[in-house]
Amino acid sequence: MKQNKFFLLLMLSFMVAGCNTAVQPMPTGQKAKNVILLIGDGMGLAQVSASFYYQEGKSPSFRRFKQIGLLNTSSAKEKVTDSASSATAYATGVRTYNGAIGVGMDTAVLENVVEILSPQGYSTGLIATSSIVHATPASFYAHIDARGKYEEIARQLVYSDIDFFAGGGYQFFNKRKDGLNYLDSLNHHGFNVATDNINEFKKLDLAEKYAYLLADDGMPNMLNGRGDFLLKATQKAIGHLKQDTDGFFLMVEGSQIDWAGHANDATSLIREVLDFDTVIDEALDFAEKDGNTLVIVTADHETGGFSLSASSNFGRSDYNIVTPSFSTKNHSTSLIPIFAFGPGAELFQGVYDNNEVFDKILQAMDKSK
Ligand code: MG
Ligand code: ZN
Repeated sequence: MKQNKFFLLLMLSFMVAGCNTAVQPMPTGQKAKNVILLIGDGMGLAQVSASFYYQEGKSPSFRRFKQIGLLNTSSAKEKVTDSASSATAYATGVRTYNGAIGVGMDTAVLENVVEILSPQGYSTGLIATSSIVHATPASFYAHIDARGKYEEIARQLVYSDIDFFAGGGYQFFNKRKDGLNYLDSLNHHGFNVATDNINEFKKLDLAEKYAYLLADDGMPNMLNGRGDFLLKATQKAIGHLKQDTDGFFLMVEGSQIDWAGHANDATSLIREVLDFDTVIDEALDFAEKDGNTLVIVTADHETGGFSLSASSNFGRSDYNIVTPSFSTKNHSTSLIPIFAFGPGAELFQGVYDNNEVFDKILQAMDKSK
C-alpha cells in the first residue's frame, strides 16, 4: 500500500513534469546569449569520421557532443544542394535555388539572422578559409541572385551589420573591374582593415569594427601553409565579440573541406578536417566556461561521396588499414550530421530539413523572427 502510494506520486510528478515541458519553449529553460555556428563546407559523416582515424594524441572534438541530429539539405529546386542555397537556408530559414545568396525563389530579399540580431544589440562575426565573399559567408550578409557576383557581394559587406570578419578576398575590394576601392569604403564605415596577418590589432575595441582580408581570393589550404589562421581568427573573434554584454553571433566556416572533396584529394581533405576539429574544440572550451553559449557544428552538404573503408588489395581485405576513397567530384545528397552544445542544444536533435536550423537558433536565443 505504501509502495503503491509512492508509485502514484511518482506517476503524478512525471505527468506534471510532462505538462511543463510541453508549454516551455526550451527544455532547460535557459536561453542562449551567444551563438557560434561552425560550418564545415562539404563535411559529411565520413569527413567527421576522419578525425577519429587520422590523428594521434587528441580526442576528436565531436566526442564532446551529446545532442546530435541529421539534416536533409536539398534546395527548394534541386535534390542536391550547393553551398549558396544551403547557407541561405541556415541564414534565413528559407529554402531557395542553388546559386542564390540571401534571396528566395523569386529573388526577393530574405532577412537573415545577422539582420535580425544586430539591431537588437548583438555583435556579429564571420570567418572563412575561402574568400569572405564566397557563398557560405556571403549568405549571412548579402542578397543577390547569383553567387558569382563577387564584386557586388563585397560592396554589400561594407554596408552590412557585420562587426568582425576574417578570410580571403582582398581582390574583390581593391583590384576590382569597376576600379573602385572598397578598402577605403570599409575604413569610412568604421572598419579597421588588416591585410598582412591575423595578429594585426592587439587589443580589439568593442566600439570598433575589424576586417581581416589576408589573401587575394581563398586562403591557402593547409598543405600549402595556412597554419593556424582559422584557430587564431576564431580566438580573436570570440575575444572581441564576447565583450558585448548583449551577446553575439559568430559563423566560422571550414571552407576547404569542400574543395579537397571536389579535387578528390584525401590528404588535403583530412588536413582540412583536422584543422576544423581544433576550432570546434576552441568554441566548446569557450562555451563550457561561459555557460551561455550555444555551439552548433554542421555542414552545408557532403562533397566527394567520401568514404573510409577497409583496404582491399588483390581480393584480400585488411580491416586494420583504413582507406579513403571518393565516389564523385561533386556534392552528394547524403544526410548531414548536426551537433549542438550549450543552452538550447536539445532543440537540434532529430531528423529534419536544413532551413529549420535557423528557427531553432532563434528559439534557443528566445527571439522570434
Ligand atoms: Mg563554402
Ligand atoms: Zn562544393
